[in-house]
Amino acid sequence: MSKYKINTTCVQGGYEPGNGEPRQVPIYQSTTFKYATSEDMGKLFDLEADGYFYSRLQNPTNDLVAKKICQLEGGAAAMLTGSGQSANFYAVFNIANCGDHVVASNSIYGGTYNLFAVTMKKMGIDFTFVDPDASEDEIRAAFRPNTKALFGEIIANPALTVLDIEKFAKVAHEQGVPLIVDNTFPTPINCRPIEWGADIVTHSTTKYMDGHGAAVGGCIVDAGKFDWMKYADKFPGLTTPDDSYHGITYAEKFGKEGAFITKATAQLMRDFGSVQSPQSAFILNLGLESLHVRVKRHCENALAVAKYLEQNDKVTYVNYCGLENDKYHALAEKYLPNGSCGVVSFGVKGGRKAAEEFMKHLKLGSIETHVADARTCCLHPASATHRQMNDEELTACGVYPDLVRYSCGLEDAEDLIADLEQAFAQI
Ligand SMILES: *Cc1c(COP(=O)(O)O)cnc(C)c1O
Repeated sequence: MSKYKINTTCVQGGYEPGNGEPRQVPIYQSTTFKYATSEDMGKLFDLEADGYFYSRLQNPTNDLVAKKICQLEGGAAAMLTGSGQSANFYAVFNIANCGDHVVASNSIYGGTYNLFAVTMKKMGIDFTFVDPDASEDEIRAAFRPNTKALFGEIIANPALTVLDIEKFAKVAHEQGVPLIVDNTFPTPINCRPIEWGADIVTHSTTKYMDGHGAAVGGCIVDAGKFDWMKYADKFPGLTTPDDSYHGITYAEKFGKEGAFITKATAQLMRDFGSVQSPQSAFILNLGLESLHVRVKRHCENALAVAKYLEQNDKVTYVNYCGLENDKYHALAEKYLPNGSCGVVSFGVKGGRKAAEEFMKHLKLGSIETHVADARTCCLHPASATHRQMNDEELTACGVYPDLVRYSCGLEDAEDLIADLEQAFAQI
C-alpha cells in the first residue's frame, strides 16, 4: 500500500531512486543478467533468492511499473504481461487446469469471451457464462464442484454494463473461489475493486493506463487476501510441491501475499513468455504519470457528450452509467462515484446504414478498433468486431446493428459535440 494519495502514486509510485540514480524509471534493455558464481544463479533458479536472470520471466523495468500499478490498486503483488489478453489468460490459467470449470459474466470484452469460450475450452477448461445482472442464486447455480474462479468486468467493453462487485465477491467467497475482475475501463482512479472484495484484478494497460495508443500491455494485481491453503484441495498448483522448482509449495513459501504472482511468473511466464518489453513498460509508466489527470478529463468529456446525445432526436438510446436514467446509474453511484470511463455507446435513428453513414462524416472521431485513447475514436461493432453476427444475433447480445461505440478523447468537449452535430446534420 502506498502511503500517498492516489494522484501522488500515479506520479511517483513504484520507483524511488537513490542518490545519483536516474530520476526516470530506467529501461533495462537486457535479456540477461550477470552473476559472480553458479551458486548465485542456482539460488535464483530454486526461487531461494530474489533477482533477475532472464527477461522472458522478469525484468526490473517491468517490475517497477507493476509495483506502481500494485500500489494504485492497493494490492499485495503484481506483474506486467505482454497484453490484456495474456493478463486474463494467466489470471485464470494460474488456478484452473484441464478438467476444471470457471464461471464468468457474459458481459465481457469480445477478445476475452473468445479466449474463454473457444481457446481455453480447447485446453479442457469449461466456462459457464452468467448475466452480470443475475441474482446471487442464479450465479450460485452456475457453480460446480470443479469451479475454480468467478470472473467479471467492472465496466464491460463494449456493453458498458456495471458489475455489482460485492454481489459477485460474496458468491465467489461462499463457494471458496477467488473473484477475478478486469478493471480496464474504470482504472484504479475510478474504482479499486480490491476494496469491494475482488481477489485478483487484471488490466489491459493498452487502454487508459498507456492512454496514447502507443504500447500494448497488460497487468495482473493480486490482493493477497485469498486463503489458498484453506481450499488446498481445490488449488493443488498453489498448495502442493512444484517439482520444477525443487518441490517448493507456493502458498507455503510465499504466503497469501506472494503465492499467486510468484507462481504465474515462475511457471506461466517461464513457459509461455508473454512478457511486456521493457521499452513498452517505460511508455506505460509515462502514461501512468498522468492517469489521474487524463481519466478525469475523459469522464468529463464523455458525460458532456452523453448528455448531448441524450437530447438529440437522431439518437435512439444512449448507454452511459454517468447518466441519471441509465440502467446502471445506481451501481455506478456506489462503485464509481467519481466517474466511470470515457466510452459512450448509442444508437443512430435509421439503423445500421444510418450509423455507418453518420460515422463517415466524423472528423475528430476516427474509426478504429481501439478505445481509451487521448484521441477520440469510434467503432461500428456490427460491421467490425461483431461482423459475423446477423441482426438477430446482434440484438440478442445487446450490440444492436445501429450501435456506435464512441470513445471520448482529451479534446475540448465543445469541439467533440460540434463534430457530432455536423455529422448528424449530414444524415
Ligand atoms: C482491450 C481489452 C482487453 C484485451 O487487452 P489487449 O491489451 O488488447 O490484449 C481485455 N479486457 C478489456 C476490458 C479490454 O478493453
